[in-house]
Amino acid sequence: MREVFGRSVEFRIDYASAQQNDEEDDEPVVKKRPLVLTPLNPILTFDNFVVGPNNMFAYSTCVEVAKNPGKYNPLFLYGGVGLGKTHLAQAIGHYLFRHQPDLRVIYLTSERFLNELVDSIKKGKVQDFRERFRARIDVLLLDDVQFLTGKTGIQTELFHTFNELYNLGKQIVICSDRDPSNLNSFQDRLISRFQMGVVAKIERPDEETSFKIAKKMVELEGGKLDEEVLHLVAKHFSDNLRRLRGSIIKLLMHQQISNERITVELARELLSISSIQSNFSISDKFVYLLCQEFKVTPDELFGSSRKKSILIARQVGIYVAKNYLGMSLRQIAELFKKSHPTVSHAIQKVEEEIKKKNSEILLKIERISKLLSARVSSQII
Ligand code: ADP
Ligand code: MG
Repeated sequence: MREVFGRSVEFRIDYASAQQNDEEDDEPVVKKRPLVLTPLNPILTFDNFVVGPNNMFAYSTCVEVAKNPGKYNPLFLYGGVGLGKTHLAQAIGHYLFRHQPDLRVIYLTSERFLNELVDSIKKGKVQDFRERFRARIDVLLLDDVQFLTGKTGIQTELFHTFNELYNLGKQIVICSDRDPSNLNSFQDRLISRFQMGVVAKIERPDEETSFKIAKKMVELEGGKLDEEVLHLVAKHFSDNLRRLRGSIIKLLMHQQISNERITVELARELLSISSIQSNFSISDKFVYLLCQEFKVTPDELFGSSRKKSILIARQVGIYVAKNYLGMSLRQIAELFKKSHPTVSHAIQKVEEEIKKKNSEILLKIERISKLLSARVSSQII
């Protein structure tokens, strides 16, 4: 509340008593209850998952696994933080609870897996732990396996659990923030088992998918936000959908409390998205730095003037774009509004000057690249 209002406010929480009758009329009196070994987040279902080019393969594989547990074994899902791994793993759980309530499905984080083992050791009940995970489950959904990095004891335990389940044809799904071969200080025998089935990667969503996800999140929260606002947050937080959701919730909360329509400007302010930061791409910011450093204007830089100071700014800019920003020749040609040969020629020119140890050029390159790396790493260009 304080964050939204910028000051302390008084508030009251009202709630209805939870005595509603939760039996629905058309349901059978004796309902088969799924064996819920772990609570799942009700939102994280396949229905609520937006499919895009970034997660298509992972999504289809998960649906396939949910329909035919044991078919792709193990399924190893990986991708950056907040890109939907937990969502998909839990969606498999939901699907199975619903369609095959007899199956014993367990979802847990690797941290919990470790804690349960430690607990069982303390209580002298390791045998119970083993039986629980090796003999009494049909589907194991193990999240965030990277958490077990460097923890040898639990890795050994996981190895044996894995083998036992695998040999019985039980489905295993593992989530991780990196691919199996990048799980450093993991036992090789575990890594090779992780790679035995299907390895599916979730990438960062493109702008369109990210927008659809944002829209879905607003819908799930039962709120409403303008499309431009959704575009803003979708673009800004597409690298981590957890942050996307957090920012949406913050906006909706503000809207509800203050009764103020969220405009793009207000959203920027509330989420501290500076307009420079979100409106300009790295290359725009690069041009800005270049012009400042060489005291030229963008028009001069992109124009055809052969004036020495402008020519040098242009050539050094092209060189830095190639070697420090990793842009392709085509991208550089587009940015500088020049032909391909002109771009190649500029790079050659600067390379010659570097060979001749032209200190003026060398100094400029160093300054620009320093400014760039400082700004890029702190993302405030
Ligand atoms: P991870 O486990 O990969 O770190 P999560 O599964 O926790 O990421 O996802 C972060 C948030 O983004 C969750 O709220 C999740 O529901 C949401 N999310 C991720 N991908 C999608 C998607 N494709 N469609 C809808 N929501 C998504
Ligand atoms: Mg997760």
